[in-house]
Amino acid sequence: MGSTMETIRTDVAILGAGGAGLRAAIALAENAPGLRIALISKVYPMRSHTCAAEGGAAGVIKPGDSLEQHFDDTVSGGDWLCDQDAVEAFVDEAPGELLQLEHWGCPWSREPDGSVAVRPFGGMKRERTWYAADKSGFHILHTLFQTSLKHASIRRFDEYFATDLLVDDGRCQGLTAIEMRTGQLKLFQAPAVIIATGGAGRMFRFNTNGAIKTGDGMAMAYRAGVPLKDMEFVQYHPTGLPSTGILLTEGCRGEGGIMLNRHGRRYLQDYGMGPETPVGRPVLKTMELGPRDRLSQAFWHEQKKGNTVETPWGDCVLLDMRHLGEKLIDERLPFVRELATSYLGKDPVTDLVPVRPTVHYMMGGIHTDIAAATPLPGLFAAGECACVSINGANRLGSNSLTDLLVFGRRAALSALDYVRAAPRVANEATLAALAKAAQTRMRLLFEKTGGTESIAGLRAKMMDIMEEQAGIYRTGDGLEKARAALNELRRRHAGIELNDKTNVYNTEWLQCLELKSLLDCAEAVVAAALARRESRGAHQRLDYTERDDRNYLKHSLAHHHPTDAPRIGTLDVVITRSQPGVRDYSGAHR
Ligand SMILES: Cc1cc2nc3c(=O)[nH]c(=O)nc-3n(C[C@H](O)[C@H](O)[C@H](O)COP(=O)(O)OP(=O)(O)OC[C@H]3O[C@@H](n4cnc5c(N)ncnc54)[C@H](O)[C@@H]3O)c2cc1C
Repeated sequence: MGSTMETIRTDVAILGAGGAGLRAAIALAENAPGLRIALISKVYPMRSHTCAAEGGAAGVIKPGDSLEQHFDDTVSGGDWLCDQDAVEAFVDEAPGELLQLEHWGCPWSREPDGSVAVRPFGGMKRERTWYAADKSGFHILHTLFQTSLKHASIRRFDEYFATDLLVDDGRCQGLTAIEMRTGQLKLFQAPAVIIATGGAGRMFRFNTNGAIKTGDGMAMAYRAGVPLKDMEFVQYHPTGLPSTGILLTEGCRGEGGIMLNRHGRRYLQDYGMGPETPVGRPVLKTMELGPRDRLSQAFWHEQKKGNTVETPWGDCVLLDMRHLGEKLIDERLPFVRELATSYLGKDPVTDLVPVRPTVHYMMGGIHTDIAAATPLPGLFAAGECACVSINGANRLGSNSLTDLLVFGRRAALSALDYVRAAPRVANEATLAALAKAAQTRMRLLFEKTGGTESIAGLRAKMMDIMEEQAGIYRTGDGLEKARAALNELRRRHAGIELNDKTNVYNTEWLQCLELKSLLDCAEAVVAAALARRESRGAHQRLDYTERDDRNYLKHSLAHHHPTDAPRIGTLDVVITRSQPGVRDYSGAHR
C-alpha cells in the first residue's frame, strides 16, 4: 500500500457490474454521449451473480395476461408491503426492457410459432416468465456486457474492491477502491455514485449465492448514514441442493416438477396451496407454484412432523421430475440435470432429487425512492442491493432480473439529471483527506499484530447464528441471542490479524472487509426482525404469528450507529389501488 493516492475523475461512478450496474452504464452512455462513466467491479463483469440466474425474467407479453395482473400478483406476493407506485412503474416498463434485451441479442426461448416463450413461476398466476432455457441470467448478463462494450465512454475498473463512500457537504462525491492487482487504494471522484453491488445472502449457512454476495455496497451506504430498508425480509428458496445450497430453479416446478415428503405425499396440499391434481402442463395448480415463503415454511413444518427424508447432508424433501421425460428436461432444464447429477449423483430423469430451503435473496436493502435515489444527495442504488420497494415482504421469482433492468435504467436517468442540475465543485482537499483516512484504517489493519481471531472461524459462527435464529421462523428470544452474538462477533472482528501482508491479490484482506460488510448487514437484519412483532411474508415469528396491518403495514428503516445498536425507524407503505387482503393460493392457475 503506497502513501500517494491516484485520483480518478469521472462523472458517474457505478459500483457493481452485474445486471443492474451494466444496465445503468448502458443507459448513461446512450443518453449522454461523452459523459465519463466508471464501472467498478470486484470481479470481471461476467462473474457477477446475475450470471447464475436460471429461471427467467417476468414481463407481460402474452394475450390473456395484463399489467394489472402482474401488479396484483406482485403486491399480494409481497404481502402488501410493496410500494404500489413502484410496482406500477415496474410492471409497465418490464415488457419494454425485455424486448430491448431481445433487440440487443438475448436468445430468449421460443414457442413453436417463433414467438417468445414464457413459463409459469411461483406466485405468478399467469405464465409471464421469459427464459433462455435454464441459463437466463447468463444470457441476460452476456447481452448486457457485450452491449456495454460498444460504448467507449464506459471505462471499466475490473477487480477493484470498493471500501468507502466519500461524503462531504452533505452529498456523496465518490468512493475509495482497492486495485486488487496492486493493493493500491484509489480515489474515485464522482458527483454521482450508483451502487449496484447485489445481495448479502452469504451471511447464512445454506445459501444459493455466489461467494461475492457479501453486502459490501449495502454496508458502505449504511455506514455513510443511508438507512437500510426492510432488512428483516430474507427469502429462502425451497429447492436448493442440500450439500452445497446450489439452486435448482423454480423452473423445475414451472415445468411440472412436484414436491414429495418421505411418504410420497404432495404435502403442499396440506398447507393451503391447492388440492391434489393431475401433474403437468397445461393443467397447472398452485401447489408447487405457490410463493417461496409459503413453500419454505411448509418444509419447516414437515421437518417438525418428521415427514422429511434424512440424508447425509441433513433433512430434505424430494423433487420429482421423472414424469417430465428426458426430452423436456434436456430442452428446458439441462443445467438442472447437470447440477443434480454432478453434485448429488441424482439424475432427475430417473431419480428423485433431495432438496431443502436455502437463503436466496434479500428483499431489503439500501433505501431508495421510485427514481432509485437514496436520501443522500448524489447517491443512487439499483438491483438486489436496493429496496425500492417492489418486493415487499416476499419477492416473486423472476421479478428480480426484470427489476435490475427497470431500476438500473431509472438509476442512470436520475443520476444523469442530478449531475446536469448540480454541477457543484468538489472540495478536493476534503475528499483527499477522507480517502487518506480510509487508507490509514487499511494500514492499521495490515500492521496489527498479536491478533487471535480467524476470518473463517468468525464467518462460520455468523452463518450458524443467522441460520438458527434469523432463518425461516424466528422468535424474540432467538433474535436477542443473535443480536448479542453478532455484537460479540463485531467486537472480535477487530481482533483479526492478517497473516498475508502482501499487496498483490490479497484475498485474505478482502475477505476480512467482506466479513465486516456481512456483519453490518446481519446486524440490520436482526434489529429489524426484532422490531417487527408480526408475521408477514418471509418474516415469520413464532411469538407473533399474525400479520398486523394496524401496527406494521410499514417499512422498517435501520439507521447505523458507530458504537451503539442501530435505530429502527418506519416509513409508510405507498398504497395506490390494492388494499391489504388475504393471500390466496388455493386456486388453479387461470
Ligand atoms: C442462483 C441464483 C439464481 C437466480 N435466479 C433468478 C431468476 O431466475 N430470476 C430472477 O428474477 N432472479 C433470480 N435470482 C436473483 C437475481 O439473479 C439477483 O438478485 C440479481 O442477479 C442481482 O443482480 P445485481 O446486478 O443486483 O447484482 P450482482 O449480479 O450480484 O452483481 C453485483 C456486482 O457488484 C460488484 N461488487 C460487489 N461488491 C463490490 C465491492 N466491494 N467492490 C466492487 N464491486 C463490488 C460485483 O463485482 C458484481 O459485479 C437468482 C439468484 C441466484 C443467486
